[in-house]
Amino acid sequence: MLKIKRKSLLYKSGVEYADFCLNHVEGCSHGCNFPCYAMQMAKRFGRIKTYSDWIKPKLVTNTLELLDKEIPRYKDQIKFVHLCFMTDPFMYKENDVKDMTLKIIEKLSKNDIRCTVLTKGIYPKELEKRDVYGDKNEYGITLVSLEEDFKKKFEPFSAPFSERIKSLEYLQKKGLKTWVSMEPYPTPNLVKQDLLKILKKISFADKIIFGKLNYNVESSLFKNNKEFYNDCAEVVIDFCKNNNIAHHIKYGTQDKDHKETEEIFRLETNIIKRQNPIPIIADSS
Ligand code: SF4
Repeated sequence: MLKIKRKSLLYKSGVEYADFCLNHVEGCSHGCNFPCYAMQMAKRFGRIKTYSDWIKPKLVTNTLELLDKEIPRYKDQIKFVHLCFMTDPFMYKENDVKDMTLKIIEKLSKNDIRCTVLTKGIYPKELEKRDVYGDKNEYGITLVSLEEDFKKKFEPFSAPFSERIKSLEYLQKKGLKTWVSMEPYPTPNLVKQDLLKILKKISFADKIIFGKLNYNVESSLFKNNKEFYNDCAEVVIDFCKNNNIAHHIKYGTQDKDHKETEEIFRLETNIIKRQNPIPIIADSS
């Protein structure tokens, strides 16, 4: 795997339900074509030139040293750390990424910092060791379809849907907290599918986040785009209420934003004390 070094790691995320975030890899071999916002940003800021650059991920080798410096600086401001918005922490079949991610979660846990994790890969069973990785973390997968043709076109190198769900359900059965990000959910002109069928597959999860597909020309041309997302969000809300699942509808998905659920991952609502200036960065989703 290619390697790079970075000057800093932890930052305050601009995503409404997140807090601090880190990205310990540049690029992502999943090669999503929604398109991937993180890839677009990497291109815009000159870090990569092409899609083929993006799908050759580079591991940030000084990640743990950076955490040793930054955790003491931000610790009293961190509610939780999200891995990751601009890459994937359990990139499918990338063992170097998996190993580094496990070390990060272990280090955060030792410092009594919980994390939310999101992947289109597969969770390793090691995470069930609560004495090493903690028991307050929230493990999530992205799942927006069950259709193989859709996967081939839009997230060609990610883990198979069934394995992804199975690995999450395993952690759930071990008593860990789980969630599913149904974002970016595609419009019917990209894939014809039954939203309820997908929801039923993930009804074991503790939390669901649902959001529309942005930045896709074909999707925005779908003539009932607005009504479609309003209706889908209502289906998700009803399903979650009926199944005792916490939920949040991402801002901009429905006509009216539900601010009351943006606290979905925050245990406390105390105002954060800002003792050090924190970088705030708009993230991928
Ligand atoms: S998994 Fe996330 S970061 Fe990786 S290519 Fe897909 S959208 Fe981009």
